[in-house]
Amino acid sequence: MASKVRLARRICEVQPSATLAVDAKAKALQAQGLDIVGFGVGEPDFDTPGHIVNAAASAMKSGDTKYSAKRGAELKRLIVEKLKRENNLEYKPEQVIVSNGGKQSLYNLCQVLVDEGDEVILAAPYWVSYLEQIRLAGGKPVILNTTEATAFKIAPQQLEKAITPKTKLFIHNSPSNPTGSVYTPEEIRAIAAVIEKAGIYALSDEIYEHLIYGDIKFLSMAAISPRLKELVVTVNGCSKTFSMTGCRIGWAAGPDEIIKAALKFQSHATSDPAAFCQAGAAEAYASRPASEAAVAAMRKQFDQRRKHMHARLNRLKGVTCLEPLGAFYCFPNISGVFGRQFNATRVNSPMDFCTVALEQAGVALVPGEAFGSSQHVRLSYATSMDLITKGLDRLEKMLNG
Ligand code: PMP
Ligand code: GLU
Repeated sequence: MASKVRLARRICEVQPSATLAVDAKAKALQAQGLDIVGFGVGEPDFDTPGHIVNAAASAMKSGDTKYSAKRGAELKRLIVEKLKRENNLEYKPEQVIVSNGGKQSLYNLCQVLVDEGDEVILAAPYWVSYLEQIRLAGGKPVILNTTEATAFKIAPQQLEKAITPKTKLFIHNSPSNPTGSVYTPEEIRAIAAVIEKAGIYALSDEIYEHLIYGDIKFLSMAAISPRLKELVVTVNGCSKTFSMTGCRIGWAAGPDEIIKAALKFQSHATSDPAAFCQAGAAEAYASRPASEAAVAAMRKQFDQRRKHMHARLNRLKGVTCLEPLGAFYCFPNISGVFGRQFNATRVNSPMDFCTVALEQAGVALVPGEAFGSSQHVRLSYATSMDLITKGLDRLEKMLNG
């Protein structure tokens, strides 16, 4: 029977976040007593470093439970210092917005930059929320497909060809969720040159900046030239770097007018994030030796898990996985499994694969469809080595057994 509720068209055309949905489903099954290995959500399993927790707790105890104008000013000053120190970018605190997660900064920016019918270019496979955020702003996503042949990276010519008079924005994400690919500084410069020439805006989502394994050096797109600093907004946050997903602290830095507009938008939507969480974030940026040591320790463990999961995935029949060089995801190609049957269920798509993996092997994965791929699934290795082994044993039994 058709629903009587008359929701706005805007929300009916949007899909829920698949990453969060897979996690919720896995946790609901676990709550029913089922033994599920969750590779769904991209959330570090490490405790938030102690000095950050202590700073947030003592801020809360000492009354930092109000609107956060004062606390916010301190955090913005520390973000300005971080951008100068780590990214060679100079901003004033007024050019920074602190939001409820990087997700909200991105949402704000789509709302203030994208008009009805504007084209927004992004590479696929893409992080699930970009597409819906573009649509929620009335924009038209223009997808540049990539494959393993280019390590899931676009060529500058691909971007150049996609630009039309309607193009307003390009979304860049390196290290990438979901593919784990990382652009080299040369590759970023080549893409940036196209943006500069066309004079379009870009969002550079740098949330996995500190999770690069190997030799590629991180480069912020906005730091390449003064003109690019006028076109590129840098988005980052504390969720992944400091294992603070639940604190909801993300931020963006960019041209005055864009950030001013985003602040105006956020002032009506949510206001700023919780003051005591901002105090924790301030501590993360201020107490550098402790934070850098904590991040290095987490990165080291992610790297071991990455190698282990990647090697095990490549032993599965019908599965091939490119080595991910950043973030904390493996993105194997499972098209070699298509056509096979598992207990009378035939697998013909990533969604089918994930259903069978969950129902028959007790392993939760995110289907590639959520990221614009019809051949891949995503596994997060932000979970313990034991669980990676257990989950891969189960997949191996299902596929090779
Ligand atoms: N960008 C990317 C690419 C992500 O993977 C995430 C993770 N959810 C975010 C932005 C936003 O993270 P958060 O809102 O927790 O800061
Ligand atoms: N970015 C993470 C993921 O892709 C967290 C979930 C989300 O916010 O979508 O799994």
